[in-house]
Amino acid sequence: MIVFIAFLLDKGNENGYPWIMEQRKGDDKMNEKKKTRKCPACNGSLKASRVENVDVDRCRKCGGLTSESMYLGDSYTLVLPYFHEGSYREDEVRYFDFTTLGSEGVSRRHGWYVPRTRRIVQVG
Ligand SMILES: [Zn+2]
Repeated sequence: MIVFIAFLLDKGNENGYPWIMEQRKGDDKMNEKKKTRKCPACNGSLKASRVENVDVDRCRKCGGLTSESMYLGDSYTLVLPYFHEGSYREDEVRYFDFTTLGSEGVSRRHGWYVPRTRRIVQVG
């Protein structure tokens, strides 16, 4: 819902138009919700980032990547749809949680992966 509040603040305005203040209450609420969204893995704060040319939110605390909306193909750029083979260190594993849009509609990919190989070690 958009609420318009108009005030005549300056009658001496050179164009003769009143100042108009526009308040978008719905947008404010949405922004507030986005700001308070936390990392699902560790509850850390998120920072809008660009990784491998894909827009994601990166957790400041654990380095996990999340997105509420991305193309399925872009999600494969970050995390391949394959399981990791071979050894890895526990400290290099990161969380991911992507809501994706692909040819089969909206779905969710989430779990733990190794950024070095971009492969999954655990789903969910
Ligand atoms: Zn985190």
